[in-house]
Amino acid sequence: MIDFSMLAVQPVLGLTPYQPGKPIEALARELGLDPAKIVKLASNENPLGPSPRALAAMDAALGETARYPDGSGFALKGELARRLGTAPERITLGNGSNDVLDLVARVFLGPGRSAVFSEHAFAVYPIATQAVGAEARVAPAHDGRRGPRYGHDLGAMLDRVADDTTVVFVANPNNPTGTYVTAKELEDFLVALPERVIAVVDEAYFEYVERDDYPDAVAWLDRFPNLIVTRTFSKAYGLAGLRVGYAVSHPQVAELLNRVRQPFNVNHLALAAAVAALDDGEHLERTRRLNREGLRQLESAFQRLGLDYIPSIGNFVTVDVGREAGPVFDALLRQGVIVRPVANYGLPNHLRVSVGTKAENDAFIAALERVLGGL
Ligand SMILES: *Cc1c(COP(=O)(O)O)cnc(C)c1O
Repeated sequence: MIDFSMLAVQPVLGLTPYQPGKPIEALARELGLDPAKIVKLASNENPLGPSPRALAAMDAALGETARYPDGSGFALKGELARRLGTAPERITLGNGSNDVLDLVARVFLGPGRSAVFSEHAFAVYPIATQAVGAEARVAPAHDGRRGPRYGHDLGAMLDRVADDTTVVFVANPNNPTGTYVTAKELEDFLVALPERVIAVVDEAYFEYVERDDYPDAVAWLDRFPNLIVTRTFSKAYGLAGLRVGYAVSHPQVAELLNRVRQPFNVNHLALAAAVAALDDGEHLERTRRLNREGLRQLESAFQRLGLDYIPSIGNFVTVDVGREAGPVFDALLRQGVIVRPVANYGLPNHLRVSVGTKAENDAFIAALERVLGGL
């Protein structure tokens, strides 16, 4: 038989597929467990689920699913623009914000070009970069002396920018570290960055952040025309399964992104749900409160257990289990708890845990204590 990898384009041969969190159904099948008893804290999903208004909007939209969705996303873009105080022409919708990151790579990266991002940064940046044949220039993360350990070192990232660099990716906060760069740090970075380099600031967890020194990069779009800010409905809005995210950028950048966008990349139900989700401030507030309490709950459990963790401003926290994390992850699975190993991020002794409901967090903590006690 023909070896089909001989037919693949060169950049694809160096890629490894993105490893998603293990689905509940898969674990239930493998271990013969009751799916209802499994706790999944592996993909930074909202434990409260979507807003009831989003569910109602989807219900109402079901009858229209024989028709193609509005490829221009008119209503959602209009609503986002209104709320962000910007123009619809600056918004690009994506099938999740990962789709938008991919559009950026396809427009601004390719063979003979490079992208800069940090060590321990979100896994989609290397995939998007390499898939189009561009080079990844990875900057070392902070070692803890001049910034949060494992966090982006924007100075080091600036140093990695080369003549052929056309994109830098800044995750703020970063996943899986939960670390962030301050407004002052990001502003200095954008001032120093050559205008010919596109700065992608990935704010997937924006709605969760409660820090005064955290920047709202959308407010800087006029000052920095080379800035692209990405956000998503997957995290705080609880719509991960629908796949809808967006970029806000200079209108000319948005127009370029739209040239390579699949015409109907955001589906009809997602468009309807996203508009309705924006309108439910109460649900968002409930989500934030639960997350604040859950983060505190997890962090105090780690302190009690003597485990180091990376302080997080997202809806997850990454903990050093003090040994190779793979066996701890496996043992947790056998207890019916799914978290996320992060060895592929250069963190072999860490596990990333999403913040769940109080009961889910309790179940995870109890399972972790049993597992660590038994090793
Ligand atoms: C979850 C996440 C995303 C969002 O992915 P979607 O495609 O919008 O679901 C983007 N960036 C980071 C850093 C994330 O953790």
